[in-house]
Amino acid sequence: MMISAAEIADYYSQLDQIGAVSTAQGKGFSRLAYSASESAAIAFIEQRATAAGLCCHRDAVGNLIVETAGSFSRWVETGSHLDSVVGGGNYDGVAGVVAGLALLTRVQQQHEKLTHGLRLRVWRGEESAAFGTASLGAWAAFGQLKPSTLERCYQGVSLAQAISAEQGNPQYIRQGRATISHDERDAIIAHIELHIEQGSVLEEQSSDIGIVTGIRGSIRNWVRFSGAFDHSGATPMGTTHRKDANLGMAYVMVELDKLVAHFNNQYPEHGQMIVQTFGMINDHADQNQRYPMIYANGVSKVSGFSYFSHEIRCCFSDIAQLFNDQAQQLIEKISRSFKLHVEIEQISLSHGVQGLDEQLQAVMASCCRRQKRSFSYLASGAWHDVAVVCQQQKSDGSRIATGMIFIPCRAGISHSAAEYSSYEQIAVGASLLADVMLCIR
Ligand SMILES: [Zn+2]
Repeated sequence: MMISAAEIADYYSQLDQIGAVSTAQGKGFSRLAYSASESAAIAFIEQRATAAGLCCHRDAVGNLIVETAGSFSRWVETGSHLDSVVGGGNYDGVAGVVAGLALLTRVQQQHEKLTHGLRLRVWRGEESAAFGTASLGAWAAFGQLKPSTLERCYQGVSLAQAISAEQGNPQYIRQGRATISHDERDAIIAHIELHIEQGSVLEEQSSDIGIVTGIRGSIRNWVRFSGAFDHSGATPMGTTHRKDANLGMAYVMVELDKLVAHFNNQYPEHGQMIVQTFGMINDHADQNQRYPMIYANGVSKVSGFSYFSHEIRCCFSDIAQLFNDQAQQLIEKISRSFKLHVEIEQISLSHGVQGLDEQLQAVMASCCRRQKRSFSYLASGAWHDVAVVCQQQKSDGSRIATGMIFIPCRAGISHSAAEYSSYEQIAVGASLLADVMLCIR
């Protein structure tokens, strides 16, 4: 089954109008979680699906479910989202929904003989931009969204209020009630999400398709150094006299950069097993409030206090932990040599997903070969709804088989008005997804 760029363009001609805003980078989209513009985009998909003869319903927390007509005892699903960050693009999430709708429409209209039903789940609120938690709709559908999340506010409106305003029922979340029954869960053969890569690996490798092997989790820490504020002119150089927090921090970061390279060399088959980032240095509003001595630093002083954020991302929780331990030992060792007191505080920890189904990956690879599409294996650096589905158990104790397909996006840019994938690239992804969803048994 070949989905054309024209079919994709047709859906986009309408979606390009919903939640559009102007940004410094040009036309962007603000369709926040449980906002009216997200609802409008969902209503458009529902209307087009219904017109195509597909069956639609909404669950109690506002997720849209689109299915091929007929009764089936087994289902293969795809899922994605229509919400965006503030001033984001129209491809992160949207490409997956459009691909799913295009292929279900085609299957429905061609009266394909199906051995299993095909289903598209349009999850609400994947982005954490509004309420600080990702995959609201997906967690809620499985009865696993923390009830306390309902009290989180965005622009003075709580999540509970936002859900009610968009015809959802927050009681389900309050009571931890799933909208997907055990029977429905057990009947899912596989769930596959299509998404833009949000990185530039596919573009650099000129690959049409990315077969995702896992989803990176993260460990985030604050690393704070205390030294001594001394006169910059009168204090001799060297660690005998100086306890220079900024200088020690700089050495730590250089050595951590070497450590990650050394560490990744041990896992050549995984490409970049670990990625680490120092996102904030001495300039974070909350840290500055908690540690006002940061303001005692000055141009003519040896620095007496410094900090940076240290983020580690990896698909494998145990390996992320191992790296975190080695990094901390290194940080402590260098701090001692600079006569600094160091404090490491964990900000957050989310477990990576290494459980993307290997058999599904093999099916994807063989479908790529059949369709003569080039492909690469890669890990996802970003969180996706499929990571929620991946953790769900069936009655027999097995997990729902999950997979993820990436399509290239220009220069790896996402969460920005400059985000872009062509209709051709989305159509190539949709055609592959169709093939994979139909041939799974
Ligand atoms: Zn997304």
